[in-house]
Formats: sequence, structure tokens, C-alpha cells
Amino acid sequence: HAKTKGKRHQYYLPTETDKPFQEVQLENDLRQAIERNEFYLAYQPQFSMKSGKIIGIEALIRWKHPQNGIIPPNDFIPLAEETGLIVQIGNWVLRRACEQIKDWNQRGYPPLHVSVNLSLGQFLDGHLVEMIRQILQETGIAPEHLQLEITESMTADVTYTIETLHQLKQLGVRISMDDFGTGYSSLSYLKNFPLDQLKIDKSFIKDVLKDEKDVAIVKTIIKLSHNLGLEVIAEGVENFQQLALLKENQCDKIQGYLVSPPISAEQIEEKYLQVP
Ligand code: C2E
Ligand code: CA
Ligand code: CA
Ligand code: CA
Repeated sequence: HAKTKGKRHQYYLPTETDKPFQEVQLENDLRQAIERNEFYLAYQPQFSMKSGKIIGIEALIRWKHPQNGIIPPNDFIPLAEETGLIVQIGNWVLRRACEQIKDWNQRGYPPLHVSVNLSLGQFLDGHLVEMIRQILQETGIAPEHLQLEITESMTADVTYTIETLHQLKQLGVRISMDDFGTGYSSLSYLKNFPLDQLKIDKSFIKDVLKDEKDVAIVKTIIKLSHNLGLEVIAEGVENFQQLALLKENQCDKIQGYLVSPPISAEQIEEKYLQVP
């Protein structure tokens, strides 16, 4: 056993030497983080423009590193993608998010949907559909209460994407296109993919009050969504002027620091979930 270990080490060393020590350390830590239960989910509320009420939450992963404190997803998701650990981590997120919805259902709170971010590695993994089927079965939540946020990066292989999305739709889950308008893919996917929602990327919302082009883009995405029979949500809403512009143009839902940052499940309960 020791011999094979030694060989493995010899094999890996030359390619790993380029990596900065910190990155190797992070990779090792990431491998252990799942077993050690160091991830948790923050939830950012999503509101209906019409009613002003909370309708759902987006699950956003955080890593409570034992030495380095709380690490945001942008600092470890890319590494998780590179190392393939994203599949395990992503499955954990899906299960945890659905368990949270189940818990609230069982306690009689009004139903919320949960949006879960999928990453490319997870989407390309052959077991995604089966995994989601299993999680829905185990938790017993209504499939339409789970919304998957995909990105344009997943649309490269059109045939595979259409096939996979249709399989997911057959399970009854909802599909939302995240960061809409920031990727490379063509608009033609909008007619071929079974989507339920477009999410206007926060980069278009950010300067919408200063930049006429952003106004045009935002208005066009809202119109486009509605003309295609899709719902549309804006993320990154930080002030009332942005909110007014979105309302004026009939954006269906909003999410952003103006209405709420990502918060804990307990805070969601306290602030938004009162048993009637
Ligand atoms: P995203 O999916 O586009 O998520 C929105 C990000 O914008 C979140 O950052 C959120 O906290 C932040 N945000 C919310 N409201 C505002 C606002 O009003 N203004 C601004 N400037 N930002 C706002 P977070 O939580 O750090 O997540 C960053 C990214 O990490 C996410 O971007 C997503 O791509 C990825 N991510 C997060 N959780 C997961 C996960 O469970 N799985 C995967 N694969 N990726 C995840
Ligand atoms: Ca998202
Ligand atoms: Ca986004
Ligand atoms: Ca993003």
C-alpha cells in the first residue's frame, strides 16, 4: 500500500509544483469540507412585483473554513469545478435546499420555491437527472418548488442540453436561465430549450439609471421574456429608482440588497414566514 502511495506521489509532484502552496492547501481543505460539514446555505428572498410578497429564495453556498473564516462561492466554486468536486458539492446543495423546503412545509408555513444554482460540471455529469429525481422522492417536496438556475455556459452542446432539460422538465422542476445576456450563446436556444424564466444579470441593472443602453437592454429582456411566455426576474436591485424602472416595465420579480441580502433560514422564518 505504501508503495502505491509513493508512486502516486511521484506522479503528481511534477505537475503540482507550479501551483501556489495556498491553492494546494485549499484543494485539500475542499476535499475534506463535505465530510466535515463545513458548507452551509444562505438564502436570498425573491419578491413578486405585483404583490410585494416573498415568493421564493435562492440558495447560495458558503464555506465556513476552520482557519480562514467564511469563504464566498466565487473563491472556491472555480476550484471545485476544476477538481470535479463540484458534483458532490452541488448534490449536497440540492439536497440541503430541498430539505429546507420540506421542513417549512411540514411546519405549515406557506410554500416557497427554492432556486438552486447548477454548475457546468454538474450539468455535464451523467447522473444529474437521476440525482434530482431521488432528492425529490426523498424529500417529497412538490417538484415545481425546485427551480434550477442554469447558465449560458451549459448551452454549448445543444443536443445534450435540450435532452437533459426535457428530462428535468419531466420531473416537474422549473428551469431559469441565470445571468441572462452575459454568455456567448445565440438567442436561438430560447425557442428550443424548455425554460420557465429568464434572470436579468445584475450587470445590466447596476448602471441602468446612468446608461441608456442598459435601459434598452433591460426593457428588451422583459419584453422578450413575456413574448416567449416566460417569467422574468431582475437580480442585483439595490435602490428604489431601479425598482421603479423595473416595475414600470412589468418585470415579474425582483431580488437584491434593496429588499434583502442573503440571510439564514432562521432569519427567513422570522422575517417572512408566519403561520396564518
Ligand atoms: P449568482 O448566481 O449570480 O448569485 C447572485 C450573487 O449576487 C450572490 O453572490 C448574491 O449574494 C449577490 N447579490 C445579491 N443581491 C445583490 C445586489 O443587490 N447587488 C450585488 N452587487 N450583488 C448581489 P454570492 O452568494 O457571493 O454568489 C456568487 C456566485 O457564486 C453566484 O452568482 C453563483 O454563480 C455562485 N454560486 C453560489 N452558490 C452556488 C451553488 O450552490 N452552486 C454553484 N454551482 N454556484 C453557486
Ligand atoms: Ca443564480
Ligand atoms: Ca445571477
Ligand atoms: Ca453570476
